[in-house]
Amino acid sequence: MRFGGPPPVAPRITLRKKRSVSVVVHSFVDVKIWSERTPSVEVARPACCSRCGAAGRPAGGPLGLVGHGLRLRQVRGAIGPGGTALVHTLWVRRYRCRHCSATVTVVTRGCVPVRHYGAGAIALACVLYGLRGESLRSTRARVSPWKSAEAGWPAMTRWLHAIEEGAIFARVRPCPGHWGARRRAERVAQSVLAVASSYGPLEERVFDGGARLACG
Ligand SMILES: [Zn+2]
Repeated sequence: MRFGGPPPVAPRITLRKKRSVSVVVHSFVDVKIWSERTPSVEVARPACCSRCGAAGRPAGGPLGLVGHGLRLRQVRGAIGPGGTALVHTLWVRRYRCRHCSATVTVVTRGCVPVRHYGAGAIALACVLYGLRGESLRSTRARVSPWKSAEAGWPAMTRWLHAIEEGAIFARVRPCPGHWGARRRAERVAQSVLAVASSYGPLEERVFDGGARLACG
């Protein structure tokens, strides 16, 4: 049986999705402490929204930044001086700004936004390769959670490129174009140690300097 006329056409509805802006901020809580126990929503709540500046917890008023759930985050490499290179999985906290609707993701001190490796591990790689003169293979063996028989290490090339573009450790000065990888790594290593606490064993200073540089 056939009905006359064209089949009904569903009206086209254009949904205008309100795009929420997402920002990432660093907590004062170190990655090692955070990995042992995820801080409560209260403890990790930022003082203010980094997009609009509204107070996260204004005195005597409703919250400006409300808890918006947890998200799993991987941090590769050692997360503290002398630590073993492992793949760490931890929860990061997210908040929603009631004033500008931004989603604020709080990552630990020592995390590098968008990168899998922690700031300390990247800083350590640059120190071993650029300052200590170690081979890529031995640097990789110390920093990467995975064993490899390859001579090179693509991750190091990617990090140096990202650092040059200001995507990691934005305060490191750009290098002249003709510089090779080892010299670039040396500049990163010097920048890491320049901002680090001047006390303690080298690896402690490397992890401290890496975390400081990662915060921008
Ligand atoms: Zn806001």
